[in-house]
Amino acid sequence: MKLEKIRNDFPILNEVVHNKPLVYLDNAATTQKPQMVIDAISNYYTHTNSNIHRSAHTLASRATELYETARDTIQQFIHAAHRHEINFTRGTTEGINLVMYSWAMHNIQEGDEIIISALEHHSNLVPWQQLCKQKKAKLLIIPINEHGELMMDIYYKQLSTKTKLVACVHTSNSLGTINPVKDIIEKAHLFGAKVLIDGAQAVAHAPIDVQALDADFFVFSGHKLFGPTGIGVLYAKEEILNEMLPFHFGGEMIKTVTYEETTFNTLPYKFEAGTPNIAGVIGLGAAIQYVQSIGFDFIQEQEKTLLAYATEKIKQINGLRIIGTAANKASVISFVINGIHTYDVGVLLDQMGIAIRTGHHCCMPLMDSLSLEGGTCRASFSFYNSQEEVDILIAGLERVVRMI
Ligand code: PLP
Repeated sequence: MKLEKIRNDFPILNEVVHNKPLVYLDNAATTQKPQMVIDAISNYYTHTNSNIHRSAHTLASRATELYETARDTIQQFIHAAHRHEINFTRGTTEGINLVMYSWAMHNIQEGDEIIISALEHHSNLVPWQQLCKQKKAKLLIIPINEHGELMMDIYYKQLSTKTKLVACVHTSNSLGTINPVKDIIEKAHLFGAKVLIDGAQAVAHAPIDVQALDADFFVFSGHKLFGPTGIGVLYAKEEILNEMLPFHFGGEMIKTVTYEETTFNTLPYKFEAGTPNIAGVIGLGAAIQYVQSIGFDFIQEQEKTLLAYATEKIKQINGLRIIGTAANKASVISFVINGIHTYDVGVLLDQMGIAIRTGHHCCMPLMDSLSLEGGTCRASFSFYNSQEEVDILIAGLERVVRMI
C-alpha cells in the first residue's frame, strides 16, 4: 500500500476536473508538489521570512541557515565535490543562458564548433544557435535513428579539436530517450571540449553523480523535481566557475565596490546577484529530502512498471503510433493517432479529467525532422501514478479513437 500512502502526500491528486478525478500524466512538463514542500514554503513565509546573508537579526540568520542548508542537500543529491559548485538559478533555461553568457561568450571563437543533439529542448538549442551566429562558430547536430536514439558513431566523427562545447540533454522530454551521457562526456574530453548536460528530465528519475559523470556543467529545474517553479541549479566544476565572469551584476555578488572598480565575491555568491528566490531554494531542499525519503529504488521500479504496462496497452489502440522507442527510455510515451490532431486528443482527454501534453514540446526542429506537424501527444508518468490511471488513459484513448 506504499503507493496509496505516497499519493496522499500530494494534495493536488485529489482534485476533480470536469467532474472527473484528476489523472495527471503531464509530469515531464512539471511535477506535482508533496505537502512537505508546500509546508516548507508556507512555514518559511509564516515564521522566517527575511533577507539572507546581510543582517544581524535572528530571522535573517534563520533564513540564511535554511537557504544554505538546502545548498548542502543539493550538493549531496548530485554528488558535487563542493557546496560552492551549486549555483541557484531560475531554472534550466537560466542555467544554460548563464553558461552561454559567462563562459561560452568568452571561450568560443570564429571557426569553433559546438555540438548539440537532435533531441534538444529549445532552451539547449537557441542559446547555442544564437551564440554561433554571433561568433561565426558552427553548430553541429548529433542525429537520431528511427528509435529516437543518438547515432553515436556520427557523434564520434563530429568531434574534433575544433569542438569547444558539447551541450546535450540527459533525458529527452519529447521522446523519453535516455542518452549515454557518460560516454558523450568521456569522448568530448578526449578533444578538450567542455560538456554541459541538461538534466531537466533526468533528476527526478535516477540518481545523478556529477563527479562520476565528470560533467563540466549540469543544469536542472526544481519544478520537475517536485519542488517550486522559478528555482533551478547550475552545477559547474570549481575551476571553471572561478574562471567565469559573473552573469548578473549588483548586490551580493561583490566583495568591494568603489566608483572605479568592483571586486567579485567568492563562489557561489559571485553568481547569485540580488535577493534570490529564498522560499524556492528552501522548497527545493524539501523536495529533495522528500525524494530521498521515497528512494530511487522505489521510484525507478514504479516508473519502469508503469512504462512497460502503458506501452503494452497503448500499442494495441487502433491507428495509434508510438514516437520514440529507445531501448533506454524514461517514463514518457509520445504518440500520434491517425485522423485526429494532437491538440484535439488533448482537449478530449481533458474532458475526461486526464492531463497530457500535446504539441511540439519545445522541440520544433525534432518534430519537423519527424514530419510531425502537430507534434505528438505525450503521457509522462511519475512514481505517484497508478496502473488504474493508465487504464483510465487507455479507456479515454479508445473513446477518442471511436469518435474519429
Ligand atoms: N530541458 C528539458 C529537457 C526540458 O524538458 C525543459 C522543460 O520542459 C527545459 C530544458 C526547460 O526547463 P525550464 O522551463 O524549467 O527552464
